[in-house]
Amino acid sequence: MREAGRGASERNGSERLFEGEPVGPGFAIGPAFITGETPVPEPEIRQSTRTPDQERDRFNDAVGRSISQLTKLRGRLALLPEESQLEISPLLDVYQRMLGPSRLQRGVMARIDDGLTAEAAVHDETEALALAMLAPHDGKKPVGEDAAAAERRAGEFREVGRRLIHNLTRTPFLALRHLPDGAVLVAETLRPSDAALIDPSRVAAVVLEGGGTTGHTAIMLRALGIPSVLAVHGLLDGLADGMALVVDGDTGQVIRDPDARTVRQARRHVAAYARERQELGRLRRLSSRMASGEKIQLQANLELPGELPLIAQSGAAGIGLLRTEFLFINAETLPDEATQYEVYSGVVSAMGSDPTTIRVLDWGGEKQSDALAQVGFSGDGEDENPALGLRGIRLLLRHPALLEAQFAAILRAAAKGSVQILLPMVTLAGEIVVAREIYERVARRLKRKGIEIGDPLPPLGAMIETPAAALMAGTLARHVDFLAIGTNDLTMYTLAADRASAEVASLYDPLHPAVLTMISGVVTAALHERKPVSLCGEIAGDPRITPLLIGLGLRSLSMTASAVPRVKQVVRSSRYEDCHRLARRVLAETEKEDIRRLLEEFREN
Ligand code: PEP
Ligand code: MG
Repeated sequence: MREAGRGASERNGSERLFEGEPVGPGFAIGPAFITGETPVPEPEIRQSTRTPDQERDRFNDAVGRSISQLTKLRGRLALLPEESQLEISPLLDVYQRMLGPSRLQRGVMARIDDGLTAEAAVHDETEALALAMLAPHDGKKPVGEDAAAAERRAGEFREVGRRLIHNLTRTPFLALRHLPDGAVLVAETLRPSDAALIDPSRVAAVVLEGGGTTGHTAIMLRALGIPSVLAVHGLLDGLADGMALVVDGDTGQVIRDPDARTVRQARRHVAAYARERQELGRLRRLSSRMASGEKIQLQANLELPGELPLIAQSGAAGIGLLRTEFLFINAETLPDEATQYEVYSGVVSAMGSDPTTIRVLDWGGEKQSDALAQVGFSGDGEDENPALGLRGIRLLLRHPALLEAQFAAILRAAAKGSVQILLPMVTLAGEIVVAREIYERVARRLKRKGIEIGDPLPPLGAMIETPAAALMAGTLARHVDFLAIGTNDLTMYTLAADRASAEVASLYDPLHPAVLTMISGVVTAALHERKPVSLCGEIAGDPRITPLLIGLGLRSLSMTASAVPRVKQVVRSSRYEDCHRLARRVLAETEKEDIRRLLEEFREN
């Protein structure tokens, strides 16, 4: 991952180049419009001279105003593209729930009873809730995705607190009304609800000095389709309203005060980008059939239900891999069958007639989970080498109650649409046999209870992500309904190179001849057993590799949603014969460099 805010460098004359975090793809040039908001004053008067009843009335009045503002905001959303609405609405739901009878409201009332002013009570309560989110659990500070989720949640409390205090103190909100058309909005920070107020047809780009790629503001800007770069440190120092800015939302580069040559280049780039967007947008509705007629299924991988709008936008034909780990990551208690059913059925229904492939929990040995500790899984590093320890199907078979609850929830969700189930980290046919017994037992139990489940039972498949599974693919295929090749792990285990290690990053290469030979062998074995096979590792989303994967015999690829249009473009312009010839030549090579050269040559021809 890039380091946030990589700073600035001098260019010609007064031109300066800044590097930040790209969060909204796109390219733009326009005059800077610097905006800031009147800071919410720390409540000066903390002890109230009013009665608690009067303070409560003031608070209720501010709640009423806040709700009606959010309702208005929701009305404005109706003008945005459907994808953006789907992205932003859940956040407004969160705010509105917080403003209803909630822990926040009870906490504020208790502080008012203790003699505080309404604004001091709101400030202290929302800050306390935010800090509780960010505090270490069991002595451990959240890291990675957990930390990002905790920060988002803390941000939600602070956002609601600020809105309430704005309304109690009658301080104005961020002034976006006077934003000139085509301007680049620049601010130190931007709150998600203010981002939602931006009219994407009027703003060329958004650049912020602060902010991170996973926050709600970033999500909003992406959903609105605005080229955006965050964490551009130092941009505001020396920037004046109206000064030209060139913004590259794909690379994170921002050029301040560009010279005439850079401006000419940027204008050409803007025009080319607009053409490309039009072309990719058009692709969404077109089929993913090759120039020679073969149909290639292009699906999306989903890590969080929040990505659903992006999937709709991408034109993916269903979900090829729904990773269910998100349900367990931040959970203090195990998500029960009902909770899981809610989530899965929501996703399955949203996909309509397109299929959803749900992978049962693939918990890695190195991850911690309070929830999983309840079934006796410690995850505290007992395994010397976690990647080779109790993960995926091994963990589930050691704690079958986990698998039973997950199967039951998925089976019930299958009544809402088209579902497939995937078993992760398989190395033995016996693991599939036991998992299938549990699966069928759970199905019989649900049927006995008269609960509606998928009929016929959803297909059960196995991930091929270990060399053992790849070499035994034919045997495994006889026990399942389909195979899915996970090249992220297959590469790691085949090359003995950790997928997360920077030290061996140059050795971790899915184009290594050993990995490609394995993929080829799996596809051949699956075809021999007449079982469908797909590929859902990261290389599925790399358009440079698409012709090779097709040439190796794959007809189904699942990738990050945003990659679908570019991969589709390659599929539509390729002929199967050429891909097949490319694959044969690639399989004859022994050096990675030569393989890359062949792919490059194929692209250029
Ligand atoms: C893979 O290993 O390629 C895969 C798709 O699974 P994950 O990335 O979730 O391990
Ligand atoms: Mg994997």
